[in-house]
Amino acid sequence: MFVLSETGGGVRFYTVSSVYFLKRAWFRPIDRLSNLLLGKASCSCGTQLQRPSMAPPVDSALFDLDGCLYDMTNGLEEHVRSRIFEFMVARLGVEDVALAQQLWTVAFRRYNQSLRGLRAAGYALDTEEYWRFIRGDTARLLAPRPETTALVVALVAAGVRCWVYTNCREREAVEALQALGIPLSLFAGVLGADFQGGRCKPELASFQRVLAHTGLDPHRCIMFEDSPKNLATAKALGMRTILVGSVTCAEERGPACLFDAQVASCTLDEVRAAMPDLLPLGT
Ligand SMILES: [Mg+2]
Repeated sequence: MFVLSETGGGVRFYTVSSVYFLKRAWFRPIDRLSNLLLGKASCSCGTQLQRPSMAPPVDSALFDLDGCLYDMTNGLEEHVRSRIFEFMVARLGVEDVALAQQLWTVAFRRYNQSLRGLRAAGYALDTEEYWRFIRGDTARLLAPRPETTALVVALVAAGVRCWVYTNCREREAVEALQALGIPLSLFAGVLGADFQGGRCKPELASFQRVLAHTGLDPHRCIMFEDSPKNLATAKALGMRTILVGSVTCAEERGPACLFDAQVASCTLDEVRAAMPDLLPLGT
């Protein structure tokens, strides 16, 4: 099911867990308390959790798109960012690309989505024009990902309902999935920028909207993400989490993040190796 809607909203959010304190699009794990509750082992990005020995079985999965269903190094992200800067100069009257880059960096760090950041900065822009300008021609930068498709196929075959949950708009997300060769029929829906309205990951309000819409149980859900900030909210809600390593970790420059397992690419073999109980061999 594909959902389109649009509303406005603010940026402040808070956790539902005593493990975390989340405020103004950033998070600060309370390491001592979380370590006592969850245990940990070090990783390059932050903190990896020891999986609870009696974790309930997974029956739902949320997949991020950019940097998750495809690797961030393929040039698409760089292309999109340059198009955003071009848009700011050509359509919003920003003096030059260098200034656009400075303004965008501040806005994105605070609002986690370029469109929200630009609106919060006072720019009036046409949503349709914006999305088509920055992502309308990006499918050509994507190639089929059979190993990632195999992961989604295996999860669906195991009875796991899968959604794409992205801060990208649905239309462009669907175009990306088609270019990646991942059948849309594998997913119960694509929950993107239109669905989230004025919110976006990692805000708790955005996640709550997803839970209300899908009816999924967060304690039986696994989330695949390359953003530690987004995984922090998922973890606070009780989801199992897999970090897909990318430049996003370094860019967010946040304090320790929490996740259950880490992979370099979102593929069946890597996920099986990183979380053996999720999809045992033979499933
Ligand atoms: Mg991402």
